[in-house]
Amino acid sequence: MTQKYGIIGWPLGHTLSPTLHNSGFKRLGIDAEYVAWPLEPVGLSDFMQRFRDDKVQGLSVTIPHKRTVMRFLDEMTFRAKSVGAVNTIFWREGVVWGENTDVDGLIEPLRLLKKLPESALVLGAGGAARAAVVGLRELEVGEIIVANRTRSKAEILGHDFNIRVVDWEKRHELSPGIILNTTPLGMSGDMVGLTPWEGDFPTGSIVYDIVYNPLRTRLLNEAEQAGCTVIEGIEMFLHQGLAQFRLWTGRKYDAGKARKVLLEALG
Ligand code: NAP
Repeated sequence: MTQKYGIIGWPLGHTLSPTLHNSGFKRLGIDAEYVAWPLEPVGLSDFMQRFRDDKVQGLSVTIPHKRTVMRFLDEMTFRAKSVGAVNTIFWREGVVWGENTDVDGLIEPLRLLKKLPESALVLGAGGAARAAVVGLRELEVGEIIVANRTRSKAEILGHDFNIRVVDWEKRHELSPGIILNTTPLGMSGDMVGLTPWEGDFPTGSIVYDIVYNPLRTRLLNEAEQAGCTVIEGIEMFLHQGLAQFRLWTGRKYDAGKARKVLLEALG
C-alpha cells in the first residue's frame, strides 16, 4: 500500500517540501506520496488523531503548529526538547516521536567549512533562531549573541540558552565571525528590498541567510560583494528535508540530486 506523508501548516502557501520528498520517493523507488495539508490551528487535535488512525507515516510541521503539536506526541528527541519546537513527526515501534531537523539543516552547510569561526550573531529570536542557537551550540561555536527587533523576545532566548543579547540598533557595532539571519527581511514580496545588516561586514565573516526565496537575498549579494563567504537558505531547507527523509524511510537521498530538483523548482 502506498505510504502517506505530508506537511501541515497555516496558511500553508506554496511549499517546496512535496517537490523534495516526492522526487526522493521516485528516485529511490519507494511507494509513497507526500502531500500538503493546510491545517487551521483549531483542527490540529482531530488531525493528529487521524494521523494515528490512518497510520500516516510521517509529517513535516510548520508555522503555527511547531510548538502546539508537541502535546499530541508520545516522545520527543533531545533536540526537539532543546529547541522547544517540532518540525518532524515519525513513528518508531508504534510510538509517535517529534524531532527538529531544522537543526540538522542549519548546521550541515557550516560543517562543510574548513574552519568554523569562534563567534556568531543570530539576527531574530523566533523559532528558527532557537534552532540556530541549538545548532551553533552543537558545533561548539564559542560565543553566540542574539539581536532581535523586539528585545524582550531576545531576552527569553538569552535566558533559555545563557547567551548574550544586544540591542537590535547596536548589532552593527559587533564583529562576529558568522552573521546568521533568521528574520524574514529580504524575503520575496514586500520585504525583498530589505536587509537585516546595513553596516560594514566584518573582514572574513561568513554570512548565512536562512531566507531561500529569493535564493540570493540583498544580504547575501552585499556580503559577497564585500568579500564574505555566503551560505544560501536553500541549503538549510535541503538538509532539514533530507534529515526528515532519512528518519522516515531509513534511506539516504543524495544531496546533489535533491538540490538540483529544488533549484529547478525555484526556477
Ligand atoms: P518567527 O518565529 O515568526 O520569527 C520571526 C523573527 O523575525 C522574529 O524574531 C521577528 O522579530 C523577526 N522579524 C520579523 N519581521 C521583522 C522585521 N521587519 N524587522 C526585523 N525583524 C523582523 O519565524 P521563524 O519560524 O523563526 O522563521 C523566520 C524565517 O526563517 C522565515 O522567513 C522562514 O521562512 C525562514 N525559515 C527558513 C528555513 C529554511 O529551511 N531555510 C527554516 C525555517 C524558517 P520580532 O520578535 O520583533 O517580531
